[in-house]
Amino acid sequence: MLNYEELIHKAKDCGFTEAGPLDVGTLEFLPEVRDMCAADRCHAYGKNWACPPACGTLDDMREKVKGYHRGILVQTVGQLEDNMDWENMQKAADDQTKNFECLWTELEKDYPQLLAMGAGTCTKCAQCTYLEGKPCRFPKRLMHSMEACGLFVSKVCTDNHLKYNYGPNTVAYTGCFLLE
Ligand code: SF4
Repeated sequence: MLNYEELIHKAKDCGFTEAGPLDVGTLEFLPEVRDMCAADRCHAYGKNWACPPACGTLDDMREKVKGYHRGILVQTVGQLEDNMDWENMQKAADDQTKNFECLWTELEKDYPQLLAMGAGTCTKCAQCTYLEGKPCRFPKRLMHSMEACGLFVSKVCTDNHLKYNYGPNTVAYTGCFLLE
């Protein structure tokens, strides 16, 4: 049984703004979300082990998560001066990556089999090895993208009673860890 008070405390210590319980049973792997990857608006499609097509099919993802029941959702919320404040948007994204790495290091001590899904593609390496045709450098630290897995992130948040939108002039990045 997960101790959510302790887990949320660890998440906040790593810098996350919000965190809350995740019921893995609420995760729906939707082809319409995966289809958005093929439009390649984030320029990661076909360029990273964590993104389609390399990350596998939605059925592969369903298979991966079927042994998990509980996890934690984590969010970094950034404050913007206006909706063109790219500098603070990037800062919030960078903070999310840093916070995610910190919590991952903490959680894997107790949950070595955890499955991590983050906001956007895996950025652990300056250049992913996928395009070089070489194996992932850090397969145990490969961070799947929630969207690439077919997850509609706002719905995951709503279904798990965590806010997704923090109002005007904010940006929120969401990730999750499946623990047991
Ligand atoms: S860890 Fe490096 S090689 Fe592996 S998916 Fe991430 S960026 Fe690519």
